[in-house]
Amino acid sequence: MAIKAHVLFENDNHKNYLLDDWNLEQRLAVHANQHLIIHNGAGMILDPGGHKIFSKAFAETSVCLHGGKLKYIFLSHQDPDVVAALNGWLMMSDAVAYASALWMRFIPHFGVDSKVLDRLKPIPDEGMYLDLNGAELMLLPAHFLHSCGNFQVYDPLSKILYSGDLGAAPEREYLQVEDFAAHAKLMAGFHRRYMVSSIAMRAWVNMVKDLDIETIAPQHGAWFKGKDMVHQFVDWCGTLECGIDWMVDKYRIPDRPL
Ligand code: FE
Repeated sequence: MAIKAHVLFENDNHKNYLLDDWNLEQRLAVHANQHLIIHNGAGMILDPGGHKIFSKAFAETSVCLHGGKLKYIFLSHQDPDVVAALNGWLMMSDAVAYASALWMRFIPHFGVDSKVLDRLKPIPDEGMYLDLNGAELMLLPAHFLHSCGNFQVYDPLSKILYSGDLGAAPEREYLQVEDFAAHAKLMAGFHRRYMVSSIAMRAWVNMVKDLDIETIAPQHGAWFKGKDMVHQFVDWCGTLECGIDWMVDKYRIPDRPL
């Protein structure tokens, strides 16, 4: 099944695509969204994914770039559905990859060739800015949501916040959230177990309240479009009990089977 590129935002020189390979027959590996930002012919691929989709995602990225160049590869954290095919992306392009400084010495274990490893660069804990051919992109700290070295991207031109695993609903069967309450039921189990604590969630809520966000686009599941939907999601994050908040009593030696 081919990848389909959905346009989340576009103007004369700026485009935001979701590369979607949703395939109901392939449920063994978790479904993951690849996002692509293009500004004045330069591209950034976000969380490019693993080997199963590498050739399709790379080909569709080239189509969307229309002869432009891939400049950046952004890795929100170290998970295989984010990083596993990094070597291919670095070998097939001149792009520079960015990931948390915490993961610099772990990511090479995915098989990144020493010839291209100098193009993997660290993001400091406090975050940073990248210039995509004239468009400024913010790399925002979102540590412990869920990985201990974890970043999100805010694109001020499209007003899209790329939230990585935050907002994920891996089992969704639609592209855009229409009914927040129904969608929250799909997100709850994942967030309660994967997000580390409500302290991290509330710190994130406090950070993003100062951003002008029109769309939140996670790495799994559907996007949240419009201020009302964005606010509902941010409010939900601010009140969720998750991770260590309710896991402490699970730390016990397991019972032996009878
Ligand atoms: Fe993850």
